[in-house]
Amino acid sequence: PAKTMDELVSLCKRRGFIFQGSEIYGGMQGAYDYGPLGIELKNNLKAAWWRSMVYERDDVEGLDAAIIQNKHVYKYSGHEDTFTDPMVDCHECKSRMRADHMKDIKVCDNCGSTNVTAPRDFNLMFKTNVGPMVNEESYTYLRPETAQGIFTNFKNVVDSTSRTLPFGIAQIGKSFRNEITPRNFIFRVREFEQMELEFFCKPGEDEKWHDFWVNTRKQWWLDQGLAEENIQFEYVTGDDLAHYSKSTVDILYKFPHGFEELEGVANRTDYDLGSHTKAQEEFGLSAKVKKNEHSTAKLAIRDLEENKWEVPFCIEPSAGLDRGLLAVMTEAYTEEELPNGTTRTVLKFKPHLAPIKVAIMPLKKNKPEIVALAKELKNKLQKLGLGRILYENTGNVGKGYRRHDEVGTPICVTVDFDSIEQEGAPVTVRDRDTMEQIVVPAAELPAYVINYFIN
Ligand code: ATP
Repeated sequence: PAKTMDELVSLCKRRGFIFQGSEIYGGMQGAYDYGPLGIELKNNLKAAWWRSMVYERDDVEGLDAAIIQNKHVYKYSGHEDTFTDPMVDCHECKSRMRADHMKDIKVCDNCGSTNVTAPRDFNLMFKTNVGPMVNEESYTYLRPETAQGIFTNFKNVVDSTSRTLPFGIAQIGKSFRNEITPRNFIFRVREFEQMELEFFCKPGEDEKWHDFWVNTRKQWWLDQGLAEENIQFEYVTGDDLAHYSKSTVDILYKFPHGFEELEGVANRTDYDLGSHTKAQEEFGLSAKVKKNEHSTAKLAIRDLEENKWEVPFCIEPSAGLDRGLLAVMTEAYTEEELPNGTTRTVLKFKPHLAPIKVAIMPLKKNKPEIVALAKELKNKLQKLGLGRILYENTGNVGKGYRRHDEVGTPICVTVDFDSIEQEGAPVTVRDRDTMEQIVVPAAELPAYVINYFIN
């Protein structure tokens, strides 16, 4: 794994994974842009999550709710009142910092001065104006989590799918938080993506489902290549527990800057649906909620056994996509000493996450038959639907191997004179991790590649 954030940042920029946002204007703190390979990696991680959370289960539906929502959503969700971090100002250097991130509450992170203010609450939501009129009422917020769109669509999903408990709704999308101190590359940023599941169950079954999701989510991260010894659970207790949560388990990963939260799995009880439902008094809610004077829908489901309407409990595994990508990159990063004394950098991604699946390189860039066969193979492999297959005609295979090691391409295929002269058109297949080369007849290449990526 990577030892420092700097080596990752530098590889990400050099090879086109991640760039500083607004770089040509001096940058924008807490915002990053995903480059040609970053977007592939991100899409692959999202697809893996969706596959395991939606397609491989029969009790989860997908959703893509709007980022901009009615401001009442954040009034009743509690974000307007309580989505804050404690902030401290330094009188000496004028910097601001998150009080709970300070090494010592009385010492400025930046200049070391002890001349700092007492902590005060800072709301992390970005406020924005909606429509052409600017007045007291025309504001809303960019969503600070995707979850609220799931709760507000609870009735729509139940009515359109006839779901009964237990079932879940999954969503991936952008969230925005005006973090006081963005830091550690893409670990803490102001614009990021979340992959969230809200899993609804009967009260009384919530603890069982909470355990289930904690373990299921850990296993998923292992399946993305994270090593067991780099993952820890943190049981959130006392003051750190959000007011709506009965219990929360954070899944931590050993990032270059230390063990930190990758995903939180919370038992949110009936707080969310109970907050957004109308006729709250009918349901005997267990959570303490603000009285809702605006909702027009009952967010409840019929219990067929007891023939009554009830507000389900909700278990929420909430993962950061950007943090996930950082974890996967940290883990994959490998510096290897080779027998000839040189070193190589390899990103040992799991094949399903690799930004480029196969690179096809003609050995001679000016030989038309070689080029034609290489292009034909590229088109054939591309049609398999595995992701990006790259045809690359630089004429320097050695350099190509090094570059593809560094961006984690699992397979490189070279087409040479043998391929056009010998029967069966043999091509050379090189494995990223072992660096071993084998010869495969061109006609068998698609089957070889499918077998490699699917099994
Ligand atoms: P933290 O304590 O690190 O601020 P949080 O507990 O506020 O995180 P949640 O509200 O539980 O985070 O959000 C769920 C997930 O969303 C987190 O586990 C993380 O992966 C991701 N996430 C939250 N805030 C950010 C951020 N500013 N930048 C990148 N990812 C984030």
